[in-house]
Amino acid sequence: MKFRYVRKVATLGLALSLTVGYTQSIASAESKANLENKLDNIKNQQSNNQEKIDSSKEKLSENNKKQNSLIHKLDESQKKIDSINKNIQGKEQDIDAEKQKIKKLEDEIKVITKRINERNEFLKKRIRSMYINGGSVNYIEVIMGSNSFGNFLDRVLALNLIAEQDRQILTDQQNDKKKQESKKQAYQKELTSLEDNLANLKTLKANLDEEKQNQKKLLTQLKAEENDIHDDIMDKQEQEKVLQSQQSIIKNQLAALVKEEEAKKKAEAERQAKERAAVEAAKSAKQSTASHSSSPSISHTQSPAVSHSDPVPSVNADFIKPAAGYISSGFGHRSFDGGFHPGIDIANSIGTPIHAAASGVVSNAYHSSSYGNVVMIAHSVNGKTYTTVYAHMTSYSVSTGQTVSQGQVIGSMGNTGESFGSHLHFELYIGPWTPPPHNGSVNPLNYIH
Ligand SMILES: [Zn+2]
Repeated sequence: MKFRYVRKVATLGLALSLTVGYTQSIASAESKANLENKLDNIKNQQSNNQEKIDSSKEKLSENNKKQNSLIHKLDESQKKIDSINKNIQGKEQDIDAEKQKIKKLEDEIKVITKRINERNEFLKKRIRSMYINGGSVNYIEVIMGSNSFGNFLDRVLALNLIAEQDRQILTDQQNDKKKQESKKQAYQKELTSLEDNLANLKTLKANLDEEKQNQKKLLTQLKAEENDIHDDIMDKQEQEKVLQSQQSIIKNQLAALVKEEEAKKKAEAERQAKERAAVEAAKSAKQSTASHSSSPSISHTQSPAVSHSDPVPSVNADFIKPAAGYISSGFGHRSFDGGFHPGIDIANSIGTPIHAAASGVVSNAYHSSSYGNVVMIAHSVNGKTYTTVYAHMTSYSVSTGQTVSQGQVIGSMGNTGESFGSHLHFELYIGPWTPPPHNGSVNPLNYIH
């Protein structure tokens, strides 16, 4: 949100500067060099933008690759989780079945135990009735009471047989019970192992769930990053659109300027032709009357060197001194620090008015950290473009695009920016202003009245 807001404001600012540029354009207020400089700036910004868009697009494709691989991984995690869930279900069913088997065995064991107890009870009763209250008083009596020895033997044998049978039945039942109990133990062992298995599966599933959550989180992050990159690209593309419209306006301005210059040249040629004709006419008139001839020489050309290291011996007096005061620092290489001073310093008190050194158009009026409050004016003198710079002002009273005439007050002297004490730092360039090392700067004293 914030991002988009900033973008809108930036676009508005650019659009505003466009309209300002447009209203001043046709009046040929800006020099060709200035316009070409602006075009260069735009081209730089465009290639800068393109580089950023390219790198953003690279980031985007990397981001998409990561997202795709993550989606694939998430898919695999889900498959694993599904299969484990199935496994868990199977194990739980197995455990239920095992528990049912154990329950059945326990019921059976209960029945057998009951039978054994009953048998025991029955045997005790029988023995009691046989030996204690079997009609006769006791065993001896039973034996002694027999009518004959054969009868006695029969009785003993019968007793033994019955006892033997009872014992056999009891032993069988007890064996049965033992068998069932060992079966139950085996089932219990199986159950324990199944339950161990289930616990392991559940741990595995928990780990997979966590892994999946992490993958989801990462995917969300990547999606957010993708949105940011998209915003970035859109922002740069919007800037590009603004730059393109700016470019076409400046190109139109340049074309208009060229047309105007051509028209001027044509007018000048016509004027010169007329003048020549007049001179010829005068000559022939003079020749017919007097004997000595004179040819007018109006050329006063001079070509100052563009590099500031070259000496500029010739003096052009088209500029005036921009402020009253004494020259506290001259132009050129300074002996005390070996640095290069691209202008002159005129010292006076704060508030001393500062005047445009020549007529022109304000190409810049802004606050710079080094220049402080600074005004730059583009001049066209004798078909040549110059730029003057007025730095460290307390304040300025002109704005970019404004036309000023020679001597007009543009601000007041001050101590803003990288300045120590109230003074005007004044620079003069042949052509446009340039950043350090300030190519094109010349000694203003060679151009001032
Ligand atoms: Zn200075």
